[in-house]
Amino acid sequence: MLIATGVEVLELPMDLFGAPTSVHPTLVWDDEGAVLIDAGFPGQLEQLREAVEDAGVSFNRIRKVVVTHQDIDHIGGIAALLADADDRIEVLAHEADRPYIVGEKRLIKANPERLAQLSKRLSFLPEERRKAVIAAFETTKARVDRTLADGERLPSCGGVVVIHTPGHTPGHICLYLERTKILVAGDALNVSDGLLVGPNPRATDDMPRAIASLGKLARYDVETVVCYHGGPYSGGVNARIAELAAAEPDPGA
Ligand SMILES: [Zn+2]
Repeated sequence: MLIATGVEVLELPMDLFGAPTSVHPTLVWDDEGAVLIDAGFPGQLEQLREAVEDAGVSFNRIRKVVVTHQDIDHIGGIAALLADADDRIEVLAHEADRPYIVGEKRLIKANPERLAQLSKRLSFLPEERRKAVIAAFETTKARVDRTLADGERLPSCGGVVVIHTPGHTPGHICLYLERTKILVAGDALNVSDGLLVGPNPRATDDMPRAIASLGKLARYDVETVVCYHGGPYSGGVNARIAELAAAEPDPGA
């Protein structure tokens, strides 16, 4: 879905947990090239290519991949993308998530307890398929060419500001597109049943920190927010984010 000139919210269908859903990488481009924000699960390269080409952008115009954080549904597509494009693409991530992404540390959600839970949730899958999913969590990694810091501004596509929003993961970032006042929120916010909501407690390691991070978004005037899970949302975004930032974290989370 094109949400502004040079900003497309991609839709990659997936049904990992038996219920069809989609994830939403964002593609931003100008005459210099395109920036992809998040890259889907392992095995989604062809879907990604199709979604980018459908947006009217040639796949080989992608110059940068910025990842909002280390989770497999965000970094899983990078290795295949790089194998396809080689050195043309620069991969950027926050310094606090880099060691996980490059494989120096195990991905936070690939620890043995979480994988045992995941295996249980996937018990409806044929054994072979389930093993492949678990193996993907254990082995997925990606190259990171450059780390990003809070407040850094990438000059691409009218200016992209990096906002460090730890909580969902230590190195989670949101990206503010200055030209279009679009906030690419990663998993710091979600759209659920048409409503803008906070981070998912089941998938967020440090909920109090994740809620506190939402307070950092107050200094940006946001017209549209793009959630990786749920897609774009507009209308009263600033007020809604302020409301979510003021909420008490759910103690049961
Ligand atoms: Zn995610």
